[in-house]
Amino acid sequence: MVSRVIPVDNFDLVIFGGTGDLARRKILPGLFRRFRAGQMPEDARVIAAARSEHDDASYRSEIEAAIKEFGGAESKDRKGLKAFLERLHYVAVDARGDGGWQQLKDLMRDGVVRAFYFSVAPGLFGDLAERLHTHGIADRDSRLVVEKPFGRDLKSARALNATLADHFNEDQIYRIDHYLGKETVQNLMAVRFANVLFEPLWNSHYVDHIQITVAETVGVGGRGSYYDKSGAMRDMVQNHLMQLLCLIAMEPPNQFEADAVRDEKLKVIRALQPIDSHHIVRGQYEASEKTASYREDVENPKSTTESFIALRATIANWRWAGVPFYLRTGKRLKARSSEINVVFKDLGHSIFEGDEARHRNVLTIRLQPNEGIDLQVTIKEPGPGGMRLIDVPLDMTFAQALGDEADDVTDAYERLIMDVIRGNQTLFMRGDEVEAAWAWTDPLIEGWEARHDVPKVYDTGSSGPEDSLMLMHRDGRRWRDIKG
Ligand code: NAD
Repeated sequence: MVSRVIPVDNFDLVIFGGTGDLARRKILPGLFRRFRAGQMPEDARVIAAARSEHDDASYRSEIEAAIKEFGGAESKDRKGLKAFLERLHYVAVDARGDGGWQQLKDLMRDGVVRAFYFSVAPGLFGDLAERLHTHGIADRDSRLVVEKPFGRDLKSARALNATLADHFNEDQIYRIDHYLGKETVQNLMAVRFANVLFEPLWNSHYVDHIQITVAETVGVGGRGSYYDKSGAMRDMVQNHLMQLLCLIAMEPPNQFEADAVRDEKLKVIRALQPIDSHHIVRGQYEASEKTASYREDVENPKSTTESFIALRATIANWRWAGVPFYLRTGKRLKARSSEINVVFKDLGHSIFEGDEARHRNVLTIRLQPNEGIDLQVTIKEPGPGGMRLIDVPLDMTFAQALGDEADDVTDAYERLIMDVIRGNQTLFMRGDEVEAAWAWTDPLIEGWEARHDVPKVYDTGSSGPEDSLMLMHRDGRRWRDIKG
């Protein structure tokens, strides 16, 4: 399948933190792919601004190495890579001082989109925003991209929003949640809102429950000290899983436009009910023969931070009354797999005898691996032998159709960055959404902290603690298997 690439307007994209891990692994390899796809205009430029001393040449060779390491098969295009590297510039800038700012100002061009990507610790956002203004580099038309974590609770998220609001309007701020850049996530909206088939069934009359699983096989890796202060709730649920939940649960917006979509997502978050402690299960992974335990990984033998969480959420509105949303995410689980399952109700009456009556339709939206959507339908098993029923998937896999070997995260980043240049905020979180999400998660976190809750241990390579299975068994339901 040949995809149609529409070039974006000419731009100067400044990446603060352009020497950092995120820039080297995701942002620049992603931009290179857009360049190769012909989406970057002739003289669009990427200006890296960070603390280390570099000139253009030394920065380019650093990024050349990064793209070769992280850029997949496309980085073998030496000619293309050379042409892309010529778009890169470097300025040494001190976020907390005046060094480098005049040089940055001199580099910026008028008449092109100016975008500033804050790929630095959130503690520097205020300094950068202020200096961009005092030095006259950012104006009313500039765009600002910020990364998670967007606060660690409601109070800090509000403070961060207020800091940015001192210098930028909400319609200039693009809060990245790369889950929203995934092909399948956008397809979820197409499936829901561009087909007559699903929307009539998308409610408590026909849906029994919804499962959202984001399972990882990796541990906390080198992020131990950060992760131990955060945990799965803050690191994954408050942002990625809640965004997925919103897209599943929201009312149809009146048009596919940024604020119309975000208004509907916000209503879902505000309708989320508080959760009883017995509907939350927290876990920590144990050591295996080859890998360390969570507590060893974070070098904190008494840590009570969760590397796994499962919970049962409910949404108080007409559409979803009585429909549980089961969410779970964790590290060191049996497979790397992210999917959403919409499990439909049993038939009111079955004309088939016995076991056959228990077949259910399930719509599965796979984010990774093998991005795609499939619908489990029940048919007659082909051949003689009477009426036996089997479940088969109506498979809409499009991972192959997407082609090359970029990993799905890079893919999500590159789409979202192009949306920033286009000025399209639909797939970015608005400030009030982020705050509402914290307003829902804060009391849950405070609740287990007040109870001195200790996470249940679970085996590396398992599906999480036993109690998380019980969370569904108690309701007469079960999780779909975590399959890689
Ligand atoms: P990093 O530590 O690898 O890089 C930090 C960058 O900030 C470097 O380029 C450094 O030069 C620059 N910097 C630090 N202090 C500075 C100062 N005073 N003035 C100018 N520049 C300064 O960090 P990272 O992993 O690239 O993460 C960047 C941001 O993205 C963080 O907020 C992080 O939480 C977030 N994030 C990272 C990832 C990831 O995969 N690395 C994923 C999601 C979110």
